[in-house]
Amino acid sequence: MKLEVYKSPVLKHKEEVDLPPFLKALIRYVENGAASWHCPGHSGGAAFLKSSVGKVFHKFFGENLLKADVCNAVEELGQLLEHTGAIAESEKNAARVFNCDHLFFVTNGTSTSNKIVWHSTVGPDDIVVVDRNCHKSVLHAIMMTGAVPVYLTPTRNHYGIIGPIPESEFSYESIQKKIANHPFIKDKTKKPRILTLTQSTYDGISYNVEAIKAELDGKIHALHFDEAWLPHAAFHDFYKDMHAIGAGRPRACDSLIFATQSTHKMLAGLSQASQILVQDSENKKLNRFVFNESYLMHTTTSPQYSIIASCDVTAAMMDGPNGKTLVEGSIQEAMDFRRAMRESQNDFGFQVWGPDELPSEGIGSRDNWILKPNEKWHGFGQVSQGFNILDPIKVTVLTPGLDVDGSFAEEGIPASLVAKYFAENGIIVEKYGLYSFFLMFTIGTTKGKWKTVIAKLKKFKADYDNNEKLSKVMPKFVQAHPVYGKLGLKDLCQQIHSEYKAGDMARMTTEIYVSEITPAMKPADAFAKIAREEIERVEIDNLEGRVTAVLLTPYPPGIPLLVPGEKFNSVIIAYLKYARDFNHMYPGFETDIHGLAVEYVNGTKKYFVDCVK
Ligand SMILES: *Cc1c(COP(=O)(O)O)cnc(C)c1O
Repeated sequence: MKLEVYKSPVLKHKEEVDLPPFLKALIRYVENGAASWHCPGHSGGAAFLKSSVGKVFHKFFGENLLKADVCNAVEELGQLLEHTGAIAESEKNAARVFNCDHLFFVTNGTSTSNKIVWHSTVGPDDIVVVDRNCHKSVLHAIMMTGAVPVYLTPTRNHYGIIGPIPESEFSYESIQKKIANHPFIKDKTKKPRILTLTQSTYDGISYNVEAIKAELDGKIHALHFDEAWLPHAAFHDFYKDMHAIGAGRPRACDSLIFATQSTHKMLAGLSQASQILVQDSENKKLNRFVFNESYLMHTTTSPQYSIIASCDVTAAMMDGPNGKTLVEGSIQEAMDFRRAMRESQNDFGFQVWGPDELPSEGIGSRDNWILKPNEKWHGFGQVSQGFNILDPIKVTVLTPGLDVDGSFAEEGIPASLVAKYFAENGIIVEKYGLYSFFLMFTIGTTKGKWKTVIAKLKKFKADYDNNEKLSKVMPKFVQAHPVYGKLGLKDLCQQIHSEYKAGDMARMTTEIYVSEITPAMKPADAFAKIAREEIERVEIDNLEGRVTAVLLTPYPPGIPLLVPGEKFNSVIIAYLKYARDFNHMYPGFETDIHGLAVEYVNGTKKYFVDCVK
């Protein structure tokens, strides 16, 4: 498709640029200044000007954002829900850029993209094969569709980093065995409807999709890769075959391939910008009409047009050689950061998780980033050759105190302290675990931005060595939690480190994710008990043998632990009790567990879970 050159009288481009279809239509619409008698009620921003707070809002966000905030009554922009007009053109353009047969923009995040894919594919009592460490939206989809899940279990190392699901778990034989042993799948011969895999785990490991297709093509109706963190992969050879859909990738014979991508996470989309990519198989094309029934079910009837425009622009930005340049730039920055960290590693004890060998300059070859069996650095043991890669732009920084075998050193710096120290100094990390925190290098990372991180880590280490008063180095934190007022930075690190060590936290936080879990009923049935009030609030000391009605998710790491309908086991109960005791001892360092209800009984804080009666 040839994009027309568009010169805006208002924007006055210095250089002529090719505008993608939707942005062009939207600018044209705003510049033509049609009178609005439709939603939204602020009428192109005019409502804000009638109040002083409104004026601040108007000034802060700017006139164009508000004028471009229109609704689906504007026919000339096309309809998202029906994929027509300029929006359809834009989706087609993005499909070309991302090399797929169909592409649908989604303005409610990949949470919604996942649900759309599922509701178009899965019905009640269908068998589904799911990554145990998937995003909660996939678990919500299980509850909404009434599916019966069998899970693929990832490995974890003792840093608490989620590893890959071993290749053996993907064998059809292994999946069939899980189906055969499942307590309430009646028809064991039923073909699973979908496999959903977190493609790129939260720590940046992805799978060889061609190997998975070779094993499961035709054995499962649809193979769905949740690529929330991987929309950049199609644009660089570094990720060849390690993402779902892209240039030169062969079609499966029978299975449809889906990828859902948060373009807002790694590319330039505005928050909630997401897209669904589909590759038809040799023998089966996506039925767009049927698919759209599910799309309509989950999509708001008032989509945000600036999000659609950002989807449009994101695709245009990745078009042609620019896509590769942008991705290469982020890999380059991540490599520079990794090299600089390695130089300082002996001085300050912080190190970056990754392969032993780093290229001395440039981005080097991807071979080092492919996981090899039994390498010490990853700690995932016997992985299959060529089956996984670590994405170098997903950077896990390890703090001192814990090694990959799970043994604790005498001294240690829990990552939560670094994260809080950073937050007071203007650096916000994506997430943190016990002794690691996570930084993302995206196409928006400016050159050398990482230098401040290293400078702040050095400063942290100096403050730590001097045991500087927390009231001096983390004043906001101490203000919120005065109990720490007298302590130094090193004192508090040591207290929390000793606590983790005594509780053998590394082992515990790993084991809760790999312990044997028994399903007692379908997730949908357990969740329905909530709506029907057939639940009972059980204190965590009494959970043995009980069945949860809610999803239980500890933050960090934000990965669901127990799905509605599953039975508590002793490993998980022990963890919940430990988390409760820890939370009492160290306010400000609480593990937040979604699904736990907190109530004050006679002045004491107690923790409960809503269980099936
Ligand atoms: C963030 C995330 C999602 C949800 O994406 P949103 O765009 O935030 O709705 C889905 N899956 C995975 C693996 C994610 O990390």
